[in-house]
Amino acid sequence: MSGSATQPAAKAPVFWECPACNYLSGDASFASAGSPCPGCGSTSGPRRQFPPDSQRLLDTRIRAYYSDREWQISVILAAALLEALLEDILDRIMAAHGADVAIRGTLLDSVRAIGTRISRLFPDLTGMEFEDAASEAGHRDFPKRWRKVRTIRNAFIHDTPYRDVEGTLDAGTATESMLLLDTAYDLFVAINNKFVADGREHRNEPAHIALHGGAVDEEAPHGAVGP
Ligand SMILES: [Zn+2]
Repeated sequence: MSGSATQPAAKAPVFWECPACNYLSGDASFASAGSPCPGCGSTSGPRRQFPPDSQRLLDTRIRAYYSDREWQISVILAAALLEALLEDILDRIMAAHGADVAIRGTLLDSVRAIGTRISRLFPDLTGMEFEDAASEAGHRDFPKRWRKVRTIRNAFIHDTPYRDVEGTLDAGTATESMLLLDTAYDLFVAINNKFVADGREHRNEPAHIALHGGAVDEEAPHGAVGP
């Protein structure tokens, strides 16, 4: 769980999601409905898996490329999956704030750059810097390490002669990408449980999202369904 692991996991971890409050738990006993949710106490099901099947399949393929020493493709795909995970957690946070699909899609489309999503969108939505959220989850070096892998990936894809990129897209970068992926699932769950599952608390705070038109109703009670 700490950032000090040196060997990538064999496969993605499995978490289970409470359908009532979206809490995610890696506890196997939480898999079946009936055991109370640590977040809200609900015993309802079904409990969906995280990562979902599509991401789990992609993760499996990435790890297969890594095993085959296909460093470049494993880095590029891992970087893509990391960015998809960030997009998903941002989407979940917005949904917890009451934003509908159209608003979430519009906002994510208007903020495509990964750096801006991390440095601007995440703090706007949560009131917390991404670096601080990572640190709180025990992954203080994750943002910096992720940024470095993105830089190397970009330099490789765009053939840009970044002078400060020491490493090339090699075995070391591939291992680092896989370790980041392992950490990302854990971080996703920590952020989810703080800002999505625990969203009732945050929903009573003043709106962080500077969306115009009042479509994000911060006063809506948890689970409220519009007319
Ligand atoms: Zn729950």
